Amino acid sequence: MRSAHGCIVHREGIESLPPNHHDPDLGESLGEAIVKKMSWMFCLALAASVAAQEASPSNAPTAIVIRAGTLIDGKSDTPRQNQVIVIRGNRIESVSDSANAKIPTGAKIIDLSKATVLPGLIDSHTHIFLQGEDPAEGGYDANILNAPLALRAARATVAARRALEQGFTTLRDVETEGAGYGDVGIKQAIDRGYIPGPRLFVATRAISTTGGYMLEGYAPELNMPKGAQIVDGPVEARKAAREQLDHGADWIKVYMTHRSWVGKNGELVSQPTLTLEELKAIVDETHGWGKKVACHAYGGIGLRRALDGGCDSIEHGLDLDDAAVAQMLKQGTWYVPTLSPYYYAWEPADTPAGQRDRLRAAVHEPSFRKAVKAGVKIVFGTDMGGIPWTDPIAQEFSRMVEFGMPPMDAIQSATSRAASMLDMEGKIGVVAPGAFADVVALSGDPLRDVKLLEKVDFVMKDGKVFRDDLSAGSR
Ligand SMILES: [Zn+2]
Repeated sequence: MRSAHGCIVHREGIESLPPNHHDPDLGESLGEAIVKKMSWMFCLALAASVAAQEASPSNAPTAIVIRAGTLIDGKSDTPRQNQVIVIRGNRIESVSDSANAKIPTGAKIIDLSKATVLPGLIDSHTHIFLQGEDPAEGGYDANILNAPLALRAARATVAARRALEQGFTTLRDVETEGAGYGDVGIKQAIDRGYIPGPRLFVATRAISTTGGYMLEGYAPELNMPKGAQIVDGPVEARKAAREQLDHGADWIKVYMTHRSWVGKNGELVSQPTLTLEELKAIVDETHGWGKKVACHAYGGIGLRRALDGGCDSIEHGLDLDDAAVAQMLKQGTWYVPTLSPYYYAWEPADTPAGQRDRLRAAVHEPSFRKAVKAGVKIVFGTDMGGIPWTDPIAQEFSRMVEFGMPPMDAIQSATSRAASMLDMEGKIGVVAPGAFADVVALSGDPLRDVKLLEKVDFVMKDGKVFRDDLSAGSR
């Protein structure tokens, strides 16, 4: 529902066209001003009548009732059996034991009494505009050099749909890799109902420095396009953040490290990118807008700058030392480890890139274990797009559990904990009264086998069933 200039009131598919499209910033005549004032009175009257309709029970949306065999609500540490979830419109109205549940008359019943029900899942590190960087298809560079923007948008549309099909009802998509503000457009298309997809939190272009992002390795005479917005100096850094926030970024994404290689003593070395002053300018600007900064950082100097500069989330964090873990705990920094891609496709072992790939994997596991043990706020993220979108998104759960995270903790990292990083606590990532009705279900017990999360068979987003291969009524 828009209320800034003109009024659009969305309720149950009723839409009143804005009576006035005039932008007040462009100036207006007295006549126009009077017409606008009358339009506003009309708007107010309309809004009041819609509110009155909502208050009247006879016009309340038909309730949907989900019978949940087992409910993992995203926040509690123990599952509950035989729960009844009442949904009205796009919100959860109540959750109760089936013994004392009141089923509203005329409610549509969805029988998931043999299934495990969870809140819609949240992946907090994706790239819907990347497609797996298959070298056979030209790798990363082909995305930028060969693909028309419309092709990239079409493939991003498919990626968004795939995520929803797999039960991921929210994504934090952390940069478009050269596709500009395409993520803002896809988000609008989803929100307006043109295409199916998860709720999107978008980071738009991302920010790095000269020498700090692809495309690279071309003749220096060529002015190659870059997969991120390149800045040098705090003034340019702040300006880039302002531009991106102005054009719809929900988060700002920065690269604090770029290249990495095996050092003299066999250690992982990561090239730092933004200086502390540059990062501080971005963080200060972004926090002023009430938004947060996600920082790609592996380890060493870049990671230290990321933490000293006030990054809200560390992405990847391959090589966290004890000091970094202590600082993350002290500052309440979120950690999105994206384990899967580092165990995915390695270059041949006898090449420098292959040795680097193996070292990255070797340092990431102990780093992650250390963070779990210390109680760092770990959030589920996959780097899908770096991994092909044809792969199961939920494969990350198995890695997290393999590396020492209890299954319930892993589930909460993709539900209530992610919601709180996104400032959506109580609204998403939880099955509880007042939350948006984002609900998924699967057969079996994911606390025994987290791999089952790769087989979500029921998906509801915003109170609407998107897929149902599970409930008795679906067969
Ligand atoms: Zn990424």
